[in-house]
Amino acid sequence: MNTTALKANERELIKLIRFFSKRATLLMETGELSQEHEQLTNACQNLEAQLYKHAENRAAILDKRERLEKVIEDNAQCPKCGKADMLKKNGVATNEHGWKCNTYRCRRCNTTFTWNKPNNPWHMAEFLEMYIQELEQSLHTQPNEELREHTEAAIPQLQDSLYKLRPVLQTSDEEVEALATKEKEMDRMIHQFKNYLMIEKIKLDTYEEPEE
Ligand SMILES: [Zn+2]
Repeated sequence: MNTTALKANERELIKLIRFFSKRATLLMETGELSQEHEQLTNACQNLEAQLYKHAENRAAILDKRERLEKVIEDNAQCPKCGKADMLKKNGVATNEHGWKCNTYRCRRCNTTFTWNKPNNPWHMAEFLEMYIQELEQSLHTQPNEELREHTEAAIPQLQDSLYKLRPVLQTSDEEVEALATKEKEMDRMIHQFKNYLMIEKIKLDTYEEPEE
């Protein structure tokens, strides 16, 4: 359980909780533990479990989000030589649509370019939307029947990708938003409980002689 990444305030509170558990154990051994302290110990244990559960949940959501952010594979090609083998990703640029796209350098041609597709699924959804619209419009203007048929066949496939992508993005966005709300609640509770424990700690220190 200790491997779960905790935030600084969570770690501080756990430290305080541990201190309390230890002191409570000592008091219990000497038969001096009051019901009040026992209740406090229980509350501490519950909170500790809650903290770890929250931290695990947070790690899972953020991990899922991170994987989603990296889901797009560019398969970029150099615009000059048309090849990909000498490409090196060298940054990210925002294009005229506000989409983040990867930039590359082709070491063969010694040229730098921005790839024409977004590097993340959120902007990819917008790209697909626009691309489908463009294809639909081209059906009215394309004189070549074969090309028109080709486009007509491609549109449903692209739409299918878009329909599959959208709910995945929406779920992730909702999860991240819910996490942020929960995070605020937890921070508030941690702050309050920490203050409370610190006051109790002072009480406990006067109740029992401090350890040498
Ligand atoms: Zn090249």
